[in-house]
This record gives sequence, C-alpha cells and structure tokens, in this order.
Amino acid sequence: MKINYLYNPEIIIPDFLLKKIDIEELTVGENLLPEINKYLNINSARILLLCDRNTYEAAGRTVQQVMSENNEVRCLVLDADIHCDLENVNTTENSVNSADTLIAVGSGTINDIGRLVADRKKIDFYSVGTAPSMDGYLSANSSIIENGVKISHSGIKPAVKVIIDLDVMKRAPYRMFLSGIGDSVSKITSVFDWQLDVLIRKGSFNPEAAYLLNQSVLRLISVLLDEEKKTQTETLIEFLLLSGAVMNAEKNSQPASGGEHLIGHVLEMFDLKMNNKNHSHHGEKVAVSTYTVFRKYSEFFSAFIENIIMPGIEEDYFRQWDEYGIRINRDVFRTKLKQIAAFDFTDYDFQKKINEGMDFISSLKILFFRLYERYNLPNDNSSINVTNSDWDFALFHAGDLRERITGLDLINSIGK
Ligand SMILES: [Zn+2]
Repeated sequence: MKINYLYNPEIIIPDFLLKKIDIEELTVGENLLPEINKYLNINSARILLLCDRNTYEAAGRTVQQVMSENNEVRCLVLDADIHCDLENVNTTENSVNSADTLIAVGSGTINDIGRLVADRKKIDFYSVGTAPSMDGYLSANSSIIENGVKISHSGIKPAVKVIIDLDVMKRAPYRMFLSGIGDSVSKITSVFDWQLDVLIRKGSFNPEAAYLLNQSVLRLISVLLDEEKKTQTETLIEFLLLSGAVMNAEKNSQPASGGEHLIGHVLEMFDLKMNNKNHSHHGEKVAVSTYTVFRKYSEFFSAFIENIIMPGIEEDYFRQWDEYGIRINRDVFRTKLKQIAAFDFTDYDFQKKINEGMDFISSLKILFFRLYERYNLPNDNSSINVTNSDWDFALFHAGDLRERITGLDLINSIGK
C-alpha cells in the first residue's frame, strides 16, 4: 500500500506492514472531498454510492456531485444507525444491478456491508471515511450478524483506495470521536490476548507489530491527555489506521480484537435480537468491555497460573443461549476447552511472555484510568443501557463465539 499523508502525522504505518497490505493507496489530508476524484481517479464507471442518512449529509452528497462529472452515479442511502446484518447486506446487494464500482461513504457498518457486497459481486470497492469511530477502514474483514450470530468474514477483498478527509472526520459527532477512543484502548487487551492465544494454540504472532501497537496506544493516550494538543483527532485517526493496517497485514483480526471485542459482539447480537433502536456504538460497547477486561486481567494474571482446572461442561451451559433464542456453534467452545485442558500453564516461555504482557498493562494503569475520567468514557454496563443479567451473560459466554482463546476464557474456565 502506498500512503499519501498531506500533513505531518504523529503515528505512521511502517514499511514492514505496508508491503503486506493489498490496498493501492490511502490518502489522508484536509479538505479532500471537493477534489476527490484527483485521489480516487475513477472514470467512466457505473458507481453505486453507499451511505446512510447521516453520512450522506456529512460527505456523500459532495462525493456524489464530484464523481458524477466523469461517471454514472447511483446512490443507496440506508437509514441512520442501522445494524450490520444480513438484511442490510441483501438490500445493498440487490441495488448493485449493473454497477461495476462500489464506494462506501461512512464508518464501520457502511464499510463492512459495502466491502462484503463488492467482494461477493466481484466489483471494485473504494472507501471514504466519515468518522474516527473504529479501526476498519483498511480492513479485509466484514463482521455481519447472520441469523442472530455475529459472523466474521475474513479474506474479503479490501478497498482499492481509501480516502480520509480530516475536515469531515473532525466534523463528525463528538460521540463518534469517543467511540474511536474506546476502539483504540481495546488494543491494550487485544494484543495481550493475541499473544496468549498464540502461545496456547500455536498460531502466528508478530512481535514487531504487537510492540508497535503497544507503543502507539501509549503515544495516543499521551496526546489525548495533553490539554494543549490540537492534533487529538488526527492522532486518533492515525492510530485507528495503524490498527487496521496490522489486521490487514497479518490477515487476522486477532491483533485488534480480543476478549473485549467478543463481549461487544454478544451485546450487538442482543441489540439486534431485541430490536434496540437506541443501541450504543461499537466503540462505546468496547470502551465498557475493555475497562472490565483490563481490570479482570490485572487481577487474574498478576498471580502465577499453575493449573487451570477444566471440569467437563454440561449441556446446561449452552441452554442459556437458547433462552436468548440464539443458535451458536457449540463445538467452538468444546474444542477450546480441550485445548485449554491440554495446555501446560507452568511452561516457562508461556509464563515469561504473559508476565511481559502484564507488565505493559500494569505500566499503563494510571494513564488508562485517567483517560476514562478525562473523557468520561462509558465504563459500566448501565452507561450503555445493558441490564446486569445480559452483561453477566456476555462476560461469561463471549468466548463461545470464536475459536481464539482469550484471557476471559481462562478466567471463566475456573467457574465452568
Ligand atoms: Zn473494534
């Protein structure tokens, strides 16, 4: 991937990641929209522009006008605050018709839907960001709720080009900025979980990328706590892009999505199930789950883990999902339990690396809590309208969703 920074960034994406990313070009700068085709360079195409009501006003209208000069442009405007589900994927897929290019103008949901649809229809995909609320602009994944369960599609063709207009980003609602902070701090626990999983399941880990994410999140928090800094939104965007770049380069969402994200996924599934129109944003859910997981890990992993004792799980364990009317794949958790049970937690290398990971988390403690206080970030379930019983369920059962092993699985295993 080639990067066009039209200003001086604080956090950059280094070459060792760039060369592994299958995106032609990322452009980040001020006031790009009036000349957007200078950066997109799309001509004589049949374009489907995908927005929601808010992102159409924020950027879509201008993109439509400019791109219509050299192309045939149709616009699909979805409702604001829609769920990232199969229904909206199908609506979009049915609107593609003869379009050969899809431009998503929006943030998380619009990009996840647009990327998946373009991949399925084998048409070119471009992304124009509208808010610094999440880290998926460079993603090669789409997470969609299908039949009530959040499914992560990996290996999706990413955007050909990504445009981040800093003026549009800075005009985004303050709540989106806070969501972006939530999604950013989650990397503190996701990087720890990435390392933990790889030690137990022997997957692939990139220490250089993990170190970079850790150091950059520290830099971001320092900028966010510096009252004088005028560049907070810019640094936030740069960090979110870096996080997306690591996922894309590693061909794995794991570096940026650990136990805290699995809790967020369960809460999103509940929102859809209960048709909750006032649902919280992804970054708000993750802000709360990261706060909880950060504290739980600090307590649990500070002690020497000798043996995680795994009693067999009863059918009863899964019955709670049935009460929510959600069918999950039960083999995921069964397999995971076997892997945990077979692992030697006294292994020297495991202990050493987990201790190093915890040392980093502990070193962040003061800044982490200060950041929550300074921005008044949501830090408990009531602040995102989740009942205590739904919250307890999400914490205990988040691990049922994915094969990856997180610190939460070890903590929960003790009681299972
Ligand atoms: Zn996220």
